[in-house]
Amino acid sequence: MSRPVQYNNHVKFEGIPEGYMGDGFMATRFEKIVSLARKNSIWPRPFATSCCGIEFMATAASHYDIARFGAERMSFSPRQCDLIMVMGTIAKKMGPVLRQVYLQMAEPRWVMAVGACASSGGIFDTYSVLQCIDLVIPVDVYVPGCPPRPEAILDGFLKIQDLVNAEGLRRRNSEQYKELLETYGIQ
Ligand code: SF4
Repeated sequence: MSRPVQYNNHVKFEGIPEGYMGDGFMATRFEKIVSLARKNSIWPRPFATSCCGIEFMATAASHYDIARFGAERMSFSPRQCDLIMVMGTIAKKMGPVLRQVYLQMAEPRWVMAVGACASSGGIFDTYSVLQCIDLVIPVDVYVPGCPPRPEAILDGFLKIQDLVNAEGLRRRNSEQYKELLETYGIQ
């Protein structure tokens, strides 16, 4: 299996997909090519409601520069994104709104809960705050911290990339995925 080539601590070059190579040709599986392209061209949809959103702004700015991972194209339309990053306290009143945005995203789609509030309600163990966004939508990656530093958000993003790369074309049509969505009442 081809692996990313590590040239130094800061720059990572993606390896070519596993396949057969010879002079002037390379053959691989279509699924591998699609995964490689998807992984490196994720369009995030920031769903920021409070302080964790500020950390995300730092993550997208020049120092941490999420563009290095092919994700600089933020989408504020659920129709044109494939990763929703939920950052901040989600009040129970906001739950249906978050779910609506998720439902408007086309497959394939991924979800990242950024920070303690999105992942567990955080310090707000109160009647009005959703105690984790996975009560309304399925979550792929949880990032701990209050707030998580940009490095932690990037680490979560890399884990999303690993998922995108690994799942290929099949997961979205699998019985397990359909069953997962059914538990949320999503067809
Ligand atoms: S996890 Fe902490 S920093 Fe993030 S939104 Fe909640 S209170 Fe704010």
